[in-house]
Amino acid sequence: MLKQNHRAWVEVDLSAIKHNVQQLKSLLTAPTELMAIVKADAYGHGAIDVSQVAIEAGAAWLGVATIPEGIQLRHAGITAPIVILGATNGIDEIKAIAEYRLQPTICNPKQALIYHEVLATIQEQVSVHLKIDTGMSRLGVNWQEAMAFVQLVQHLPNLEITSIYSHFATADDRDRRFMHLQAQRFEQVITALKAEDFHAPRIHICNTAAMLSEPHLHYDIVRTGLGLYGLYPAPHLQSYLDLRPALTVKARITQVKEISAGTSVSYGQSFIAPQDMKMATVAIGYADGIPRGLSNRIRVSVNGQKVAQIGTITMDQCAIDVSHVPNINVGDVVTFLGSDSENTADDWANLVGTISWEILCGFKHRLPRINITKTVDLTDRRLFSSDHI
Ligand SMILES: *Cc1c(COP(=O)(O)O)cnc(C)c1O
Repeated sequence: MLKQNHRAWVEVDLSAIKHNVQQLKSLLTAPTELMAIVKADAYGHGAIDVSQVAIEAGAAWLGVATIPEGIQLRHAGITAPIVILGATNGIDEIKAIAEYRLQPTICNPKQALIYHEVLATIQEQVSVHLKIDTGMSRLGVNWQEAMAFVQLVQHLPNLEITSIYSHFATADDRDRRFMHLQAQRFEQVITALKAEDFHAPRIHICNTAAMLSEPHLHYDIVRTGLGLYGLYPAPHLQSYLDLRPALTVKARITQVKEISAGTSVSYGQSFIAPQDMKMATVAIGYADGIPRGLSNRIRVSVNGQKVAQIGTITMDQCAIDVSHVPNINVGDVVTFLGSDSENTADDWANLVGTISWEILCGFKHRLPRINITKTVDLTDRRLFSSDHI
């Protein structure tokens, strides 16, 4: 059988995920709970394993973006409450949510009424989370209309209000003014509801960045994504915790060759050998999630040495300079991103003008996920895929 790591793969260190959950939880005071955000296949780390480990480490909630993401976790036997952060409106969607005991975000009165109608027909009740827009301008009712919205949903017997939440637009900025304005609007809503004798069972507004910088806004739940995966939302938030990146991207050398001075490498001749060199071709490219914009700009590790990536990164392959690496062979493993590499997802993001979230989510399913922890659950064979390396 073909080995999982024959060409290129992603290694996920589940013990780092566990460590990160514990680190994040150490900032919380009871009764605040942690929601592990595992949307987009846990930011590319593998949603099922990450969810299981996060729950073992003390996460009380899971957050996903879509219904299929939630169903995947239910099929894996996960019983923790799963919140769908995205919008869901269709009849089939609502039925699936009821069937799989998922908890939708309700963003406006019209959506609430559609839910009401469908749930009444199928005689189901679901736990819902009401989204208030305090300035992100994505989903949710505007904060000025929150009161009427909550009162409407309160009178729909098949929708059980489980939380009221909002989302920050600028939590990772050094300038906290807009975040504080959003927090103030949110607090206004909560206060007004209390004055009408409505006590939301839970309220929440923090993502990873706000959780790190605004302990007084933790409320009942914090929704952490990036921090789980060991990255800091911004350099100025780094001092708060010891987080460990969990993801490493590796690929194998498929050919080694000598090239003479003046030889061009790859499409567009973007690299010309300045002297005689030894290069290696590696079986990973932009279709796997290595941004093409990094061509000629990153260093990778091979056999304990840092070397330059050279030439344009192509869809499935790229080249590296191994002139000074002795004993280099076909099959040797090159580390592109990860703890023993020079580059973090942040470095890559800065080079190509994006954010680390997009780099992490960019690693495609052509790269198998291999769990490298040996500490989580000794009875679960799936956690031992590293045996095959
Ligand atoms: C993705 C997401 C989060 C997690 O954000 P991080 O910055 O990765 O911690 C939290 N809340 C909502 C609504 C989200 O969509």
